[in-house]
Amino acid sequence: MLEVQDLHAGYGQVEVLHGLSFSVPKGQVVTLIGSNGAGKTTTMRALSGMIRPRGGTIRLNGRDIAGLDSHAVAREGLAHSPEGRRVFPTLSVEDNLTLGAFPRLTGARPKGDVAADRERAFTLFPRLRERRNQLAGTLSGGEQQMLAMGRALMLRPDILLLDEPSMGLAPKLVEEVFRIIRQLKEERVTMLLVEQFAMAALGVADHAYVLENGRIRFQGPAAQLKSDPAVRAAYLGGH
Ligand code: ATP
Repeated sequence: MLEVQDLHAGYGQVEVLHGLSFSVPKGQVVTLIGSNGAGKTTTMRALSGMIRPRGGTIRLNGRDIAGLDSHAVAREGLAHSPEGRRVFPTLSVEDNLTLGAFPRLTGARPKGDVAADRERAFTLFPRLRERRNQLAGTLSGGEQQMLAMGRALMLRPDILLLDEPSMGLAPKLVEEVFRIIRQLKEERVTMLLVEQFAMAALGVADHAYVLENGRIRFQGPAAQLKSDPAVRAAYLGGH
């Protein structure tokens, strides 16, 4: 499904990713863990075309998408729910969701039933249904986070990138987000997950990569990393 080889990326003069290679098989959940500044968000941005990789290949369904802009990447089937509240603040909740399906509406992706998928998003996120006509900019931080996730799903993506979906959420809502990730996994949605709650991420993932200073330090089945004393001591303290 997604195959990343020797990915280099950074900002200005600074290279942050120094040659990452990893893959996300179809139907699986893969998590990237690592301390602050390791390069997790930069990896997500490079995959989704928010920043331009400086080297390497990113193959999605066999096609190299490295260097495509974010719209073109979405047309190839990759949806990104970015860190922070990246919704369209002056549009309603419902219109934000519909825009997530834009490549389907223009024929760049198979159309399917957009209205039914919007209803499904409201079923996954009942708080959004109650606020469907509210302007997205007036939602709480947590609600905006859920809207970003719902909007990404509206692409019917081949792979969903979730960057810190629980950021800024109250503990009850964090649980809710992980429940939704588990449900999506049962539906065989392929996901790449970055989470501050590394233990919870390892609990839901099939496979994990540990990033350190822009390089992959360890990788393995998530359950194995979760119980590895060295990994726990170095990366999972407190979570
Ligand atoms: P965190 O868990 O703290 O979000 P992360 O693993 O996601 O960490 P990144 O956000 O990818 O790490 O940051 C990696 C490095 O890139 C850091 O040194 C950071 O300061 C730098 N960086 C991130 N975004 C930018 C930017 N827009 N411009 C310049 N440098 C950046």
